[in-house]
Amino acid sequence: MIKKFIDNLIAGATGRKPRFGKRKEVGPQEHAIDPTLVDERALSVVHTLKEAGHEAYIVGGAVRDLLLGLRPKDFDVATNATPEQVKSLFRRAFIIGRRFRIVHVVFGRGREHEVIEVSTFRAYLDAASAEAVSGNERTSKSELAGMHHAVDASGRVLRDNVWGPQEEDAARRDFTINAMYYDPETRIVVDYHGGITDAKKRLLRMIGDPATRYREDPVRVIRAVRFAAKLAGLGFKFDPKTKSPLLHALPLLQEVPQSRLFDEMLKLLQTGHSLATIEQLKALGMARGIYPLLDLVVERAEQPFVRAALQDTDRRVNEGKPVAPSFLLACVLWSDVREGWQDRTARRLHPFPALQESIDEVFDARIGDISGRGKLGADMREIWMMQPRFEKRSGQTPFTLVEQPRFRAAFDFMRLRADIGEVDVMLADWWQEFSQASDLVREDLVAALRDEQRKQQQPRVRRVKPQASAEGEAPAPERRAAEGEAAEGEGATGDAPRKRRRRRRKPAGQGGGEHAPHAPSAGESAE
Ligand code: ATP
Ligand code: MG
Repeated sequence: MIKKFIDNLIAGATGRKPRFGKRKEVGPQEHAIDPTLVDERALSVVHTLKEAGHEAYIVGGAVRDLLLGLRPKDFDVATNATPEQVKSLFRRAFIIGRRFRIVHVVFGRGREHEVIEVSTFRAYLDAASAEAVSGNERTSKSELAGMHHAVDASGRVLRDNVWGPQEEDAARRDFTINAMYYDPETRIVVDYHGGITDAKKRLLRMIGDPATRYREDPVRVIRAVRFAAKLAGLGFKFDPKTKSPLLHALPLLQEVPQSRLFDEMLKLLQTGHSLATIEQLKALGMARGIYPLLDLVVERAEQPFVRAALQDTDRRVNEGKPVAPSFLLACVLWSDVREGWQDRTARRLHPFPALQESIDEVFDARIGDISGRGKLGADMREIWMMQPRFEKRSGQTPFTLVEQPRFRAAFDFMRLRADIGEVDVMLADWWQEFSQASDLVREDLVAALRDEQRKQQQPRVRRVKPQASAEGEAPAPERRAAEGEAAEGEGATGDAPRKRRRRRRKPAGQGGGEHAPHAPSAGESAE
């Protein structure tokens, strides 16, 4: 209270609020940023904006990473031009976002496609000044229309789309190392909050009063964990004042919309240091309580399969490869899906509907509110539904499977299962070969497998036969599904193996094998 009062007095006397920090410009000798790490397109966006008479800088995480000698994974630009002005300067630019209106400037196509996010400097609005926002003379009426700034009873900032000068834009950012601006043309870094010093000291420090900043936007709690984990390898530590209110602020996350929590959770898991993140969460006493699905990830990180998935995600991120959240989440929830599936097949349900039912159950129980995320959910489902189909390698099945858009993800998933001994490594190797081979070699692979199986199976069928008719354990659901068990008639009797043998003798791969019982795909199996 007293501090605020004094701040206001100073502000009144100087016409300037001290918390906005003192502008410091730092040249290349001091910051030593390697210009070759700067993305050409970010450079060109800054150039275009400056040419048009605006201020423009690379900002945020990219400056932090450049300063630390890391190659930024994406580049954001900040400017004093409004979104409409930015849009008018680029051919392919789109205004997006409700919470923050920003412009996406798009370059290239397809795989080379890249987006530079351009945001307009925003005013710093704390709980007090937000109430007075409608009188903010810096912001024109049209800019204010439909984007008022709001703060709820707990001090949480609900929306902020009010433009302001750079010093205010810097003050509303989260950590000092995330609040610097870099002009790639003059090679000057603009720093208001001692970001350069903190980067040198390896300190993760929140701008302003940390407890207040967590209250304004509780998602900063998750961001704190993310940056601490991402930068731990470089020797970064929390500033004690930034760290101490974290645990206390944790319950505030309950107020945050699920979809935003979900996005932050994904970012938290995709820093390239997911295992360090999980350790960080435990060390902070936050292993539970951020988001239910994250609680589960932390809990399951010790399971070999989930651990392998996290390591695989880290490796991909560190190699600069794209990562699909659907893959990681499919791995985390696989044990639930698998158990539900096994239960149902043990009750003699056909393997495919059994798998589908199990997936539905897991979505209801674990994904809940975010099930509206169509593509993510659909991708997870496909990865799971393709698993039993890998068991079937005769006829046309492998040829169709390999053409599925999600084949690669489903294959990687199966490869991980093989790594932990859940499926035969030979099966994973075969699919690897098959997927990389030419059509001709693919035919050979299928034929060779057919011959091999025939050789092995002829004597085995005879031996196995008496057991098959006896009451035994339910076979693994994958195998039952692959053999199209139910398609051959539900009540599997002693003569079922003979039927299968007959079918296998048909010349596969030339149309003859086409009608061999194939594993139904997601849409067709609910008979
Ligand atoms: P990364 O490299 O993981 O993308 P980043 O720092 O770029 O990290 P973003 O989420 O891309 O993180 O955000 C870009 C910048 O926007 C941040 O560096 C920070 O300055 C600001 N920012 C983002 N989210 C918040 C927030 N919740 N509160 C304050 N500032 C934020
Ligand atoms: Mg970023």
